[in-house]
Amino acid sequence: MLQCKDVTEETSNYIAGVEGGLPLSKRIALFMHLVICRCCRNYVQQFRQTIDTVTVAKPQEMDATDRQALAKKLHAMCDKTNPGDH
Ligand SMILES: [Zn+2]
Repeated sequence: MLQCKDVTEETSNYIAGVEGGLPLSKRIALFMHLVICRCCRNYVQQFRQTIDTVTVAKPQEMDATDRQALAKKLHAMCDKTNPGDH
């Protein structure tokens, strides 16, 4: 079973839908975690919205570093608001 920190690491690949970037087994594991973890579900939703906004506004400036920093920030926030809820 995936941990929340694993979800944080894989979310950018999961959402970006990079071809071949994420094996099917991993996509399923992520999905299963999202089913049971409200915190990560919320996180993925926020992440997706932010990516959409940023990608439209500045498509050339979007890179993996930005997304990882964002992932950590969002999930740290979520951990604070929902202690022990995952
Ligand atoms: Zn989680």
